[in-house]
Amino acid sequence: GLLADEIIGQSADILVSHHIIPIHFYQEMWKRVQDKGQWSGEVIEEKANETIMVHQTIFELKDTRTHQTTHYVFITKDLSEIMQKQREIETLSYHDKLTNLANRSSFLNTLDKLIAQKSRKGARFVLIYLDLDDFKEINDTIGYEAGDKILRYFAKRIKNSLRKEDIVARIGGDEFAIILSDLETPEEALYVARKIIDQFNKPFKIDNRQFTITTSMGIAIFPDDGNDDKKLLAAADLALHRAKENGQSQFAFFEPEMQEKALKQFQIREELKDAIKNQSFILHYQPKIDLQTQQIIGFEALIRWKHPKLGLIPPNDFIPIAEKCGVIIPMTEWICHEVGQAYDRFRQEGYTNISIAVNISAKHFQTRRLIDLIEATIHNSSIGYQHLELEVTESALMEDLETAKEQLHALHQLGIKVALDDYGTGYSSLAYLKHLPIDILKIDKSFINGLANDPKDRAIVETTIKMAHSLGMKTVAEGVEEAEQITYLEEMGCNYIQGYFYAPPLSEEDAMKLLKTYNTTQRYSNVD
Ligand code: C2E
Ligand code: CA
Ligand code: CA
Repeated sequence: GLLADEIIGQSADILVSHHIIPIHFYQEMWKRVQDKGQWSGEVIEEKANETIMVHQTIFELKDTRTHQTTHYVFITKDLSEIMQKQREIETLSYHDKLTNLANRSSFLNTLDKLIAQKSRKGARFVLIYLDLDDFKEINDTIGYEAGDKILRYFAKRIKNSLRKEDIVARIGGDEFAIILSDLETPEEALYVARKIIDQFNKPFKIDNRQFTITTSMGIAIFPDDGNDDKKLLAAADLALHRAKENGQSQFAFFEPEMQEKALKQFQIREELKDAIKNQSFILHYQPKIDLQTQQIIGFEALIRWKHPKLGLIPPNDFIPIAEKCGVIIPMTEWICHEVGQAYDRFRQEGYTNISIAVNISAKHFQTRRLIDLIEATIHNSSIGYQHLELEVTESALMEDLETAKEQLHALHQLGIKVALDDYGTGYSSLAYLKHLPIDILKIDKSFINGLANDPKDRAIVETTIKMAHSLGMKTVAEGVEEAEQITYLEEMGCNYIQGYFYAPPLSEEDAMKLLKTYNTTQRYSNVD
């Protein structure tokens, strides 16, 4: 790229690339020229106004009499064109020319790598086979060119239904394969399958003609349905055939049981989204009793879902789904609002000193909006900071410890009490107890169960209570069902009891009734 005038007499340095190349690269290159008299390899160099890859050979010229090196000769060959060709060959061999998706061989390659990686981690992923329903007939009637357009159109649609880390390949005529690399549950797979089916159900226009094309999908899960590539591919293929047998626009899991489970979860997820609007949640209140005074000091709010067909659904069946699909955030907002209203009613009856505890999930800490929520709750009702308690589990804190810590400290400053839930079942890290503003330890039911018969459980509970007290925390025993357990807990100095022995979670009405029988002394005694 340079003219003779521009280069003759100049130092060879003007050809050296501006790119940063490790110094030892040049050191080794020159060492070799000196030791062996010659070096060749690929380097980056500057042309007049571009940087190029070149193949270079360097050798010494020696004076034949003195054997002294007098010159170095560089022979340089521009590799730009060859590299461009190579790139084209690579794209051709890994990409499907029509849709620009990965092709079959590249797909199998990726699958192998993913299987190795997931096996090591013991993780799952989802493989979906997809093909267009009756594509052959369409192709025959409208011609291949329009058929190609349809394939390109859907390749794009499929890709847009997925996340960046998912993989789509065209593996044959109208067959596609999809890997959902980070999905763990059949329900998540079903969710994606539905999304793709919805994409296909919309009519579309090609060459001014309107079409509707449907798709069928077979879903297999690694390693459940196959722990190597052959088994997994066969499972997805079989599932696809089963889907086709059921008609158009269908999907099938390799394992019918998984399908059933996924469908049920999916239905729950869909209905969950409307549950707040439809007012189908209700709160129950389980009292906590002070062992010394035998008074109800407060309640834990526990959510239930009044499902029109399935009846009362317990929280363990929908909280994890609510967490996954984000409903947990508005749901907890609704809970806090309800708790504020309930407090107003308890207060109207004269119970001003009770506290109400709300369970807070990990997701809420991540949004960093917990403070706003608490502020709104306090603002919209007569409940004060000192009456609101948050129950959090260790695992919820651990998901993002720093964020959680920050928020808990801020809340603590406002006077909100924080209870560590299910204590003893997780890591039960003492460092957390030291660094986090925990006011109350809730000793898990599993230890309370064994109080009467298992000396080990007794030792654990006793030690935990002692430790909590030395750290300035109060203790709640969860899931107390028998009188004998209470005797032990009294002896050990446990502060509060929660469990069926006193009362199960109750409707607000029943909770009020219970307050009236238990807290006769408190009633009206300290109305402010
Ligand atoms: P948790 O926070 O540990 O709640 C205590 C659970 O133990 C409640 O179950 C309660 O009904 C049950 N329980 C209380 N006393 C006894 C007893 O004496 N014996 C036995 N066997 N069980 C007892 P529930 O209401 O089914 O809630 C289960 C879990 O669901 C809760 O565990 C909590 O993790 C979650 N959950 C419930 N409500 C909410 C909520 O409003 N928000 C959030 N994020 N999670 C909730
Ligand atoms: Ca709880
Ligand atoms: Ca608990």
